[in-house]
Amino acid sequence: MIHFIGAGPGGADLITVRGARLLGEADCIIYAGSLVNPALLDYKKEGCAVYDSAGMTMEEVIAVMAENEKSGKDTVRLHTGDPCLYGAIREQMDELDRLGLPYDDTPGVSSFCGAAAALCAEYTLPEVSQSVIITRMAGRTPVPEGEELRKMASHGCTMVLFLSTGLLEDVEKELLSGGAYTADTPAAIVYKATWPDEKVFRCTVGTLAKTAKENHITKTALITVGGFLGDQYERSKLYDPTFTHGYREACK
Ligand code: SAH
Repeated sequence: MIHFIGAGPGGADLITVRGARLLGEADCIIYAGSLVNPALLDYKKEGCAVYDSAGMTMEEVIAVMAENEKSGKDTVRLHTGDPCLYGAIREQMDELDRLGLPYDDTPGVSSFCGAAAALCAEYTLPEVSQSVIITRMAGRTPVPEGEELRKMASHGCTMVLFLSTGLLEDVEKELLSGGAYTADTPAAIVYKATWPDEKVFRCTVGTLAKTAKENHITKTALITVGGFLGDQYERSKLYDPTFTHGYREACK
């Protein structure tokens, strides 16, 4: 069996209980060494083979999995955060389907959740934003037409940018072209959320590039943008004493 597992955002104890159990049972672990905390390998059993996929092609990864399957060994494919975001799992799964090899998928805590935790923030503040756009700046990997950052930025809602830390001058321009954010809209750069060397830099849309430059942040960071980083919001209805809902009557 091949288990795709979300490793979580960094902190080695942020993997799920199921993920940790499967890691401990694996005969072989193929992990994304560029982003997965190597401390997670401490969960492995003795004799477990370990491959760092950072220097491998998909074909090489699949070949290791197929070889393990032949001898009845369990493989864990360990992806950073949750594999469903920028994880390149679909292409691996399609190839495994083609070869008739079985797999399953265990979710993980995505780094966008780790970043919110680092900021002690709520992305969906009442009357501020009830939506989160997860996207990236077009770089060497293009984004499809209609998903240009300036279009995404026209909503003014909470936004989390993956894979864009090296392109912050363009990010600033695109965010401002959307028309909904201003140069003063709050923003934050969260570097290595939940890792021991996590760093948080609060800034504004207009100072994103400068802040990253001054602090030498070029990768492994998320850019978060929006009024959720500000001070204005309304209380939730859920815990409002005057609000009745399915589990509670309004206080008289
Ligand atoms: N599947 C992953 C994302 C992989 S894409 C997830 O769910 O988090 C890789 C990008 O994710 C990095 O370039 C960076 O933008 C972001 N990233 C991953 N881990 C991070 C962390 N701990 N802190 C900040 N950003 C992180």
